[in-house]
Amino acid sequence: MPVLVTIAVALAAVLAAVVIGRAVWLWWKYRGARVITCPENQRPAGITVDAGHVAAHAFSQTPQLRLSACSRWPERAGCGQQCLSQVEAAPEDCLVRNILVHWYAGKRCVSCGQPFGDISLAGAKPAVLPADKVSVEWSQIPADKLEETLAASSPICFACHMGNTLVRTHPELAVDRHRSADLSGR
Ligand code: SF4
Ligand SMILES: [Zn+2]
Repeated sequence: MPVLVTIAVALAAVLAAVVIGRAVWLWWKYRGARVITCPENQRPAGITVDAGHVAAHAFSQTPQLRLSACSRWPERAGCGQQCLSQVEAAPEDCLVRNILVHWYAGKRCVSCGQPFGDISLAGAKPAVLPADKVSVEWSQIPADKLEETLAASSPICFACHMGNTLVRTHPELAVDRHRSADLSGR
């Protein structure tokens, strides 16, 4: 009898580990901002899947998708969330961070000319330089405006973005190299 109990406990532990592992994987897979085409108006919309809900239903055979946010809410709240079919079909392709990473592929910084190479999501990320020359970080771009923003912008590296921001916000700290050279040559 104790052997059966031990086996049952071991099986329960294995089952729990499998479900927890699947929950973490589902949460990781469905977290983050996404951009899709709203079926109602055929325009881009920014959405966020409720990754906690998906993870909490890890025991389901198919992911239980629902949204926690949409850029068209609250006007379209209660819409039926038909856009979820696009997330189901290609969950990675509509992730904002993936779209941004692909945008930099093969490009160079518009300011210093450095190639971007592989972009680490854990480290300092490059930025986006729109036509108004005020560089913005990824988090500052609304998902529903991502496509049009990228189409009208240039890629800028993190260092040049920081320099751009410093000159704009603290012009008194910016060094005029030509003037510095003149002064040191006197
Ligand atoms: S949640 Fe509704 S309004 Fe928002 S994109 Fe999806 S279908 Fe459109
Ligand atoms: Zn640069």
